[in-house]
Amino acid sequence: MSTTLSFSELPLDKALIDNLHEQGYAQMTSIQAAALPVILQGKDVVAQAKTGSGKTAAFGIGLLSAIQVDAYRTQALILCPTRELADQVSKELRRLARAIANIKVLTLCGGQPMGAQVDSLAHPAHIIVGTPGRIQDHLRKGNLTLNDLNILVLDEADRMLDMGFSDEVNDIISHTPSQRQTLLFSATYPTDIEKMSERVQRSPQRIIIESAD
Ligand code: ADP
Ligand code: MG
Repeated sequence: MSTTLSFSELPLDKALIDNLHEQGYAQMTSIQAAALPVILQGKDVVAQAKTGSGKTAAFGIGLLSAIQVDAYRTQALILCPTRELADQVSKELRRLARAIANIKVLTLCGGQPMGAQVDSLAHPAHIIVGTPGRIQDHLRKGNLTLNDLNILVLDEADRMLDMGFSDEVNDIISHTPSQRQTLLFSATYPTDIEKMSERVQRSPQRIIIESAD
């Protein structure tokens, strides 16, 4: 769709772009060039691109530019299949967010004490990254609400389905506003991902990148 490869051509804050350059992100990868302009318009995207193609920054830059920092509520949720992947996504988001003062990114995964997570939730994070089981747990216990969520990201959606998280994901989605923007990222595009996209997205733009950069 888009042939631009420079982050500077996107409608992003200068501080965000300067930070990308400082982080060594000289130009966009193919998935970023194709997905970011659409994400920045607030549209749903279902994107498939190989591992290592820069999918985290594709949705990460999009959601960082949509966050209202003065509004202390959870505006974006990223679901990942494993704790390791959630940690990687949080780390990358925090790097990308260095340009934005006071943005809070919270990671909520299983295998970690609930108590410390409940304490962290006392001060709402702008962005939550987590695994489906633990997020569902916090929702059930009333520790977390997603009533003000603007953006939901299903990262590595194919793996989440392979790992049997479909019920948890559906339950979590039922706690979010229907007006949200939903971004679905996957390394493969099997039929069950297509069906999930139809179920949880509204007129999504489908982006398929055949080869890595
Ligand atoms: P994926 O989710 O597609 O597997 P990642 O988002 O984990 O890929 O990105 C892979 C690596 O590429 C990460 O180390 C990330 O920091 C780096 N990266 C992402 N976008 C860019 C870019 N535009 N320029 C340089 N490096 C990038
Ligand atoms: Mg990824």
